[in-house]
Amino acid sequence: MNIILLGPPGAGKGTQAQRLVDKHGMRQLSTGDMLRAAVKAETPVGLEAKAVMERGELVSDAIVSALIGEELDAMGPDVGAIFDGYPRTAAQAEALDAILSGRGRHLDHVIELEVDEDALVERVTGRFTCANCGKGYHDTFEQPKALGVCDKCGGTEFKRRPDDNEATVRTRMAEYRAKTAPILPIYDSRGVVTRVNGMAEMDHVTAAIERVLAV
Ligand code: ADP
Ligand code: ADP
Ligand code: ZN
Repeated sequence: MNIILLGPPGAGKGTQAQRLVDKHGMRQLSTGDMLRAAVKAETPVGLEAKAVMERGELVSDAIVSALIGEELDAMGPDVGAIFDGYPRTAAQAEALDAILSGRGRHLDHVIELEVDEDALVERVTGRFTCANCGKGYHDTFEQPKALGVCDKCGGTEFKRRPDDNEATVRTRMAEYRAKTAPILPIYDSRGVVTRVNGMAEMDHVTAAIERVLAV
């Protein structure tokens, strides 16, 4: 199974992808996570991407598509893929078609998380993750069950992204509207898109996605 989770920053793509990974043993392919790892490791890709990401603009199509191809090659052919934050432009959508068909995969579902933009700034600015295992949390919507201790791994260190501030979020939302939302009609014309209410409670969003995957 190969699925795309589509939606603006804060829509819940990462949260839902983590749940699918835990439940179905699928693999999350997040270009944002790959780019952050490259920035941290100061690779050539990371050095090129750092300032672009800090501004909330999009990194070049060639870079992110190459990262996706490498990550797929490192996975077993039977492991399902959840594309989280990719594709984000028409050129990336086209590249993904070639990447998948070149590996004998095909796209099963595009799930669009529909959200109210006004809620996204709060979602993104309140977001933090476990520094050890990457589990996502939120100041208001999902605190660890025991204060300061990760539910999943028991880690006690958490981190926040430098780009999760209001100004950058607004740029990222504008990038989504201008470059990412326009790729939906491509997938609509193939009949693979399902829209899910991303404003519902996390568990309800998960249940709605499970219903799509069961079809
Ligand atoms: P994305 O990967 O689409 O940018 P995240 O999954 O990181 O979004 O979610 C952004 C923040 O909002 C996280 O802190 C997460 O805990 C929280 N969140 C995700 N889904 C919901 C939801 N349905 N209701 C409330 N908060 C949510
Ligand atoms: P969010 O959780 O807000 O959806 P991501 O973690 O997916 O954000 O992405 C963070 C940043 O990384 C983006 O603002 C952009 O600069 C860069 N990025 C991630 N994925 C892509 C992509 N597919 N194309 C271009 N840039 C990307
Ligand atoms: Zn953890």
